[in-house]
Parts: sequence; C-alpha cells; structure tokens
Amino acid sequence: MGNDCVIIPPTQTPDDDPPLCPNCGYDLRGVHAERCSECGQTIDWAALGLSGVPWAARRDIGCVRAYLRTLWLVTINSRRLKHEAVKPQLLADARSFRRITAVAFAAVLLSVFAVAVIEENGLVFMAVPPEPLRATASPLRWMYDLTVPWSAGATLWPVIPACLIFLAFALASSVQALFRVASASPRQQDRAAAISCYAIAPLALFLPWWVLWVFVRMAVRGSPLVWFASAGVASFFVFVGALLLLVAIVRIMQWVSRSRHCGFTGIVAAMAKLLGLWLLCIVVLLGVLPWCSGFLWIVADSLR
Ligand SMILES: [Zn+2]
Repeated sequence: MGNDCVIIPPTQTPDDDPPLCPNCGYDLRGVHAERCSECGQTIDWAALGLSGVPWAARRDIGCVRAYLRTLWLVTINSRRLKHEAVKPQLLADARSFRRITAVAFAAVLLSVFAVAVIEENGLVFMAVPPEPLRATASPLRWMYDLTVPWSAGATLWPVIPACLIFLAFALASSVQALFRVASASPRQQDRAAAISCYAIAPLALFLPWWVLWVFVRMAVRGSPLVWFASAGVASFFVFVGALLLLVAIVRIMQWVSRSRHCGFTGIVAAMAKLLGLWLLCIVVLLGVLPWCSGFLWIVADSLR
C-alpha cells in the first residue's frame, strides 16, 4: 500500500464516524473483540481505517485491475463497498478515478459524433436550418435567426468535439454537488466528494456498449436482411443504453443516500437536482457555447 493511506487512530475524535462492521454495518464503538458481536464477522481492525475501494489499492493490484474491479463492484452494488461512505477515502485517489471515467465517457461522445460525421459525409447535417423558417414573413423567423449562429459554430471543426469533451467532464463532476452537506466537517466533505467520484463509475460502461454497437452494425451491414437487422440491432442497443443510464442514476442515488443519510424526499430532491444539473450542462455546452462561437465567427467574418 502506498504511504498516502490514511489510518484512523484507535481513539475516536468527535469529528470521526464510528468504526462499522464491514459485513453488517454494526457500530463497533466500545467493542474490542476479534469478531463482530452482531454477525460474527472477523474484524480486521487495521483495515477498518483504510478505504476498501479497489482503486485505492491500485499500487498493489495494478491500475487496470483496480479500475475494472471498482467499476464492477459499484455497478453490481456489491456488499463489499456498502460501508465505504463512512470509511476514510482519499479525495485525490477518487478524483483520478473520476478523470478516467470521464475520459471513457468523452471517448463515447466523440466517437458517436465521428460516426455521424462519417455517415453524413461531413458537418453539413448540422448546418441547415429548416427551409420554411427562412422566409422573412414567417412567424418563426426568430427561430431561424437563432439557429444561424448555432449552425455556424457547430460546423466549425473543433467546436463540437471540444464541447463534447467538456460535456463528459461536466456531467461527471456535477454529481459532486449532490453530496455536499453544508454542516459537515471539511473531512466529511472530502469523503463525500470522494464517494461522488466513485459513484459515477457505471458511466464508463457506455464505452464497451458503444464499441459493441459499432462492431455489430458493421457485421450486420453485409446481411441480406439489412434493414430489418439494423433496425432490430438499433432498438436493442438503445434499450441497453437506456438501461445503463438508469443503472448509473440509481447507483448515484444510492451513494447519495449512504453518504448523506437522507430519506426518500432527500433522494427525490437529489434526483431532481441531478437531472437539472445534467440538463444545464447539455444546454450550456451543446447550445450556448456553439452559439457564442458561431456568433463571434459571424462578427469576425463581417469585419473582414
Ligand atoms: Zn457484523
């Protein structure tokens, strides 16, 4: 184990959370036995003060294995991680985990964009505002005026790829806002922030999902039942994608509830906040940002 591991001293300060049985979550304050008096689990007292997230042990078990194991345990909601929200977690460790997850998710967004560009022969598909809106007398003329700068921005080569990379990182890190408790000590805040970084792990599953979809689509192309096969494949993968999103949201909510000990109304509020934040990220990064860059481009172009 690296030398940056935090070990809770046996004496508890008021700021510390009580040590919990890793199997049943029983409060072990005042217990000095080798076994949990509630479930009989052998207690490794030294390990109680250490993070049980595999990613924290990556220097011992290797980064790839540590990442995949953490991803798996978070996705299946393993009992092994159940009490991690009250154990010490290093924020720097957790942030590096979140960065990798965000990079994997950015790779998905970029390759979805790349496939669209290849299939549509360039960026033209984002450039055409609907023709009926163009007429000066049209009551929807304002909509046309609004789409022109957006299209101008979106068809500039680096704009959409850059926005998609920002979007992946924004979606991943905005989750941290759900875990903030104003009254918590700085140490508890850091721990909750670290848990938020691990909670988004299922977002990384979109990478194998998308790679598989692309391969299956390429394989289906040569089949005699092209249309039927590709429509079937598309709806299957859309269904699996929706399921992945659901799993990701459910896991985030479970970790919010473990971290903040909030009840049903707290979870509903956190869920509304998450969807609101994600929607805001999408609107700002895929709407406002391309619009502004297109607007600047038009202004710069008119001055030439
Ligand atoms: Zn126990």
